[in-house]
Amino acid sequence: MKRESKAVKVRNIQIGGGAPVSIQSMTKTDTTDVDGTIKQIEEMQKAGCEIVRIAVPDDDAAAALVKIRKLTDVPIVADIHFHYKLALKALDAGIDKLRLNPGNIGSIDRVREVVRATEAKGVPIRIGVNGGSLEKDLLQKYGTATPEAMVESGMRHVRILEDLNFDNIVISLKASDVNRMVEAYRLMATKVNYPLHLGVTEAGTPFGGTIKSAMGLGILLHEGIGDTIRVSLAAEPHEEVRVGWEILKSLELRKRGVTVVACPTCGRLDVDNFVEIVTEVERRLAHVEEPLHLSIMGCAVNGPGEAHDSQLGITFGRQVGMIFKDGVPMRKVAGADIVEEFVKEVEILRQEGKNAKSIAEVKPLVQIT
Ligand code: SF4
Repeated sequence: MKRESKAVKVRNIQIGGGAPVSIQSMTKTDTTDVDGTIKQIEEMQKAGCEIVRIAVPDDDAAAALVKIRKLTDVPIVADIHFHYKLALKALDAGIDKLRLNPGNIGSIDRVREVVRATEAKGVPIRIGVNGGSLEKDLLQKYGTATPEAMVESGMRHVRILEDLNFDNIVISLKASDVNRMVEAYRLMATKVNYPLHLGVTEAGTPFGGTIKSAMGLGILLHEGIGDTIRVSLAAEPHEEVRVGWEILKSLELRKRGVTVVACPTCGRLDVDNFVEIVTEVERRLAHVEEPLHLSIMGCAVNGPGEAHDSQLGITFGRQVGMIFKDGVPMRKVAGADIVEEFVKEVEILRQEGKNAKSIAEVKPLVQIT
């Protein structure tokens, strides 16, 4: 069951309060490179990014934020560390959310000034605890960045804001260790009802990082914990967004774009370049936003069954692909032409508007492979 959380508004996106789990990511350009940053934001949006975080390390970045704000409507989170004046400048630039730890910006007067300005703009604050940068006294108390230490750190920041009657809060408790972040979020979920931003920080390269993120985020989301997610990879941000969507789609929490069921292949495979075909179909259909369920299967053992539960499917036999539509065989196409012809059928289907058969309606099959 989904954990109940307070609703927080980030421009046109609601986080928590029963809203769908949103996907966010962070630009990796130098923020002062306005054109480059806008280009990256557009790529992220194309991949389905709903909230974009931008680092604001200095005055030049804050000045660039003013220009960036004018060039995009995407909900923007300004990422601030230590400098309260940069937070004030970012708010003036028209950002939609602050990522800032109030305990790290100095005197309570400074915190109050930021909180009042934030309140005036109706903008939430995300408290972002990171296992790698915990307060020294907590590291001494707990020996290391344990889940309890991370939660205690988070609660300190929460109390600073609550003491100023500010509760427009989102919390993250990121660690690069999956077990640790899972425990930290579980613990925090028992203490507050603020929405939780999930992430495995510094997850790594696309291969390992995707697995770590899918594990950490997947466990929590499956337990109903988590209101917005960010996948962190040593890769372009739109890749992070793609992975985020796959995590949400695989748990049937959101629907977007093409889902291709493809068999792992085995000794019965009836076509030569199966992996290339599947990869090319996915690449050619990456622009599709509406949910479409497709299947590509290497032989007739499971092909017709999967095709039955797909809007369009291919089953191979003797180097020839049979295209199925809603489970009914349509036509045979030679392996060399299958990508082109299948993509054509998908585009026809989209035009027909026959994509109402949702992923949620598709029941998993028992595989014999
Ligand atoms: S559908 Fe199953 S049996 Fe047929 S090639 Fe793919 S993995 Fe092998």
